[in-house]
Amino acid sequence: TDDINLIRQENLINVSGEDVPPPITEFSQLSEYNVKQTLINAVGKCGYTQPTPIQMQATTAMLKGREVIGIAPTGSGKTMAFGISLLSNLRQPKKNGFRAVIISPTRELATQIHREINGLAEKTNQKGWKVCLLAKAAQFVPEMARSFNTKYDILVTTPLRLVHMVSTGDLQLSSVEWIIFDEADQLFDASFVKQVDDILGACTSGSLKVCLFSATLSNEVEHIARTVQKNPVKINIGAVNT
Ligand code: ADP
Ligand code: MG
Repeated sequence: TDDINLIRQENLINVSGEDVPPPITEFSQLSEYNVKQTLINAVGKCGYTQPTPIQMQATTAMLKGREVIGIAPTGSGKTMAFGISLLSNLRQPKKNGFRAVIISPTRELATQIHREINGLAEKTNQKGWKVCLLAKAAQFVPEMARSFNTKYDILVTTPLRLVHMVSTGDLQLSSVEWIIFDEADQLFDASFVKQVDDILGACTSGSLKVCLFSATLSNEVEHIARTVQKNPVKINIGAVNT
């Protein structure tokens, strides 16, 4: 545990929560967390040689099935932290309803997340991973609805689009096992809180896991988040401000 503490100290990884798994320092260590070699290789093919601090700690927590509150600066690789974890936890494409949903406050950010996770999924050479991006209103036509829910495993979306499609019945969230709120400080803000409520209400699986990632997180938002999480691991990257 001295080693673990040292790694955390050197990388400014602050953790709180029960039984937090140790961080990795190399992507190859992900094999100890049941991550397929093809997925580890895909991370390398993306050009990433060393995990960033949030990736070191958030991946192992999520791979152990833990809900995460991940706070790390903009540009520090939060997308891959949850992207790798989700692809590993879902194991393989099932195309039997969305099992992971990533919610982003803006279309632009959703598009970037989609590009990055889809790129990683393609590089695994595991046939059949398809990541759905739902961001533009005009993108969806009702005729798509029939096959829509069975074409993909992972959805990247903005909250408004998602709430709309859930309300029309075109999209079901009953198979969702993991839901990620990215830029959570914005999503749990007063203007979005009703949508977040509606979305979580539609995620009826008893094994739903909720994760939040953000560059900053107010006490109020963290308080709300904890009411929808079970025994989360909080990871805060950076100098502790006391
Ligand atoms: P954040 O969500 O924390 O603001 P991003 O996930 O958008 O940051 O990542 C910022 C940039 O860093 C992206 O261009 C991404 O491709 C790159 N990146 C992610 N992980 C790594 C890594 N381990 N090594 C090098 N670059 C990385
Ligand atoms: Mg981000």
